[in-house]
Amino acid sequence: MGGFILRYFKGVWATGVISTHDPNIVMLVHTDVPLDLLARQGKKFNWKKPTLCPRCDNCSIWGHGFVLCFLAGYKEGIYLKRYRCFLCRLVVTMKPLGFPKYYRNAKAVIYKTLKYRLCKLKWPDQCSRQRGGNWLRRFISKVRYDFQCLNPERHVIAWLTYCSRKNIPFLA
Ligand SMILES: [Zn+2]
Repeated sequence: MGGFILRYFKGVWATGVISTHDPNIVMLVHTDVPLDLLARQGKKFNWKKPTLCPRCDNCSIWGHGFVLCFLAGYKEGIYLKRYRCFLCRLVVTMKPLGFPKYYRNAKAVIYKTLKYRLCKLKWPDQCSRQRGGNWLRRFISKVRYDFQCLNPERHVIAWLTYCSRKNIPFLA
């Protein structure tokens, strides 16, 4: 098991998991890229290279291949560009905004579903209990991780809204 890191980077929140098996952190950098164009162009898409390493601020970052990723709404896999820091060997995976790691559904859908559940104490019609329950469990464990204990429910809803607006991951 590794720890969870979160860092503000070039106007977006970058998230990643620190692996104890691999000293190099694989960090995702969320970028504002047009998904449809990315799906059409594949590896030919012109990614904007990060100017600095998010971990050590070194500016020697080189291309490090691609990783295939499957997103809800796209039948074919989408190629995400990876970069590697020459100094600290951090691998940076570029990922479109709104699709943080492990999320197959757009974050906006997850946010609306969780808010509905927390406000009305039932699931919206179009959401299966199983999928919603999975999101809720991961949301609660993220809240526990961040606050060490559960705040009264309305504070939790306010926190969920804050995270969604600021593009901070809200699922563990
Ligand atoms: Zn670095």
